[in-house]
Amino acid sequence: MSRRPIAQINVDALAHNFKHIQSIAPKSKILAVLKANAYGHGLLAVAEQLKAAGAFGVARIDEALMLRVGGIVKPIVLLEGFFHPDELPQIVASNLQVVVHHRSQVEALLNAELEAPVHVWLKIDSGMHRLGIYPAEFKQVYQQLMASPNVLKPLRLMTHFACADEPDNPATTKQLALFSELINGCEGELSIANSAGVLAWPQSHGDWVRPGLALYGVSPMLAGRAAKHGLRPVMTFSSSVIAVRDVKKGDAVGYGAAWTAPVDTRLAVVAIGYGDGYPRNAPSGTPVLINGKRFPIVGRVSMDMTTIDIGSDPVNIGDQVILWGEQLAVEEIAELVQTIPYELLCNITSRVQLRYIGDNLG
Ligand SMILES: *Cc1c(COP(=O)(O)O)cnc(C)c1O
Repeated sequence: MSRRPIAQINVDALAHNFKHIQSIAPKSKILAVLKANAYGHGLLAVAEQLKAAGAFGVARIDEALMLRVGGIVKPIVLLEGFFHPDELPQIVASNLQVVVHHRSQVEALLNAELEAPVHVWLKIDSGMHRLGIYPAEFKQVYQQLMASPNVLKPLRLMTHFACADEPDNPATTKQLALFSELINGCEGELSIANSAGVLAWPQSHGDWVRPGLALYGVSPMLAGRAAKHGLRPVMTFSSSVIAVRDVKKGDAVGYGAAWTAPVDTRLAVVAIGYGDGYPRNAPSGTPVLINGKRFPIVGRVSMDMTTIDIGSDPVNIGDQVILWGEQLAVEEIAELVQTIPYELLCNITSRVQLRYIGDNLG
């Protein structure tokens, strides 16, 4: 058995989550978001599993081209559009769809000489104030795109939520109200909901939902847990014990002597560290699972190794250590290290082997 860190990807759980999202938003098509290597789950392998998705969403053109090179023929949407007009010929040649969020993109698109028209997702800033056409310029841009032979119809009209992970935040209601006011009377397919929108804001489902995190079986809600939403974690991140050692009361362990044994005890040294994407700021006490039981990390996480206090339990070299997964929510680890599960999943490095399991593999 390999003693390297492994991210095991359960494709049955992925299929379950996809179906579950479809049942929550039964009238919507699903644009499955695969950016950042499918949130660490493996871009191409995840795309190959999601045969029922209506489209895939990625952040950048190189991600889309990796999918095309890998044989994926489904519609792919560049969620931030093109970064430079130079990319337009490649976008047409590879049959990609673009989000248009800025005046400069509108101008470039209207003025381009394209081999074929492209599908456009016109993004409106309804209150997040990061990307999007200003509400005041929406009508004009909409009319320009509708009239342009470079733009395929129907146009897609979209916006993005800032606070949908808070179920009662009035900011989301305000964004919804502004968006529906602006698009009133316009022709097009509507897309608003990310994972939190899917789970908590049914009014936002529209023609296309855009789940990322929920597909991977993780709750996007603040203080949320996947199980509460009927989702199954897709990734189990694990490694192995490479040494078991005795320490005496008063022995300081690891870099910076950051933890001192309060009593005589035993440590398991695990082949996992921040070089694999395990968070260096995981405090002493952060749980791992060994043989189904929780044990605390002690001392600092180093690049390749982490130490666990196993007390008098029978833990042996080679035993599997689960960092997060079905029995240990990545949401819990994220809270302990004061980040969000998105960041933990994306931070998994190329040193970690992705391994796919499940009855529906194929
Ligand atoms: C990343 C992204 C999503 C997916 O967000 P989740 O919270 O992971 O569901 C949806 N829409 C856009 C525009 C995005 O950039």
